[in-house]
Amino acid sequence: MGVFEMVGTVVRSVFRKPATLMYPVKTAKITPLSRGHVVIDVSRCISCRICQKKCPSQAIWVEPKEKTWQINRLRCNVCNSCVETCPVKCLTMDTHYIPSVTVRPGAELFHITYVKPPKPEITAESKD
Ligand code: SF4
Ligand code: SF4
Repeated sequence: MGVFEMVGTVVRSVFRKPATLMYPVKTAKITPLSRGHVVIDVSRCISCRICQKKCPSQAIWVEPKEKTWQINRLRCNVCNSCVETCPVKCLTMDTHYIPSVTVRPGAELFHITYVKPPKPEITAESKD
């Protein structure tokens, strides 16, 4: 970049509005491409652990026996991989921004409430 080009950029920047927002004082702009934070529907999660295996940041931890699903939001890089690979689509991205934090939060723990439906009974009538 030449000196004149650089000076031009500086002068234009003085008169333009800032390219960034004073978040969280000002509300963030939401577009169709925006990603926010991962939300789980605990009533549909089947504890398959695929989201945990696909997460590149090790932000998710699933305990099938305890029926818990945890996420460490400070590790999450919002890549959307867990949302895309969940076989039952119980993960979504909420584009509503949550307030910034002033203390280091631990992992958020959710209790899975999904109950596997019983297998239908095979009766003599159903065999026919
Ligand atoms: S969005 Fe990406 S980084 Fe965040 S929890 Fe899901 S897979 Fe992990
Ligand atoms: S959130 Fe989806 S991918 Fe993760 S354990 Fe539950 S069902 Fe499996």
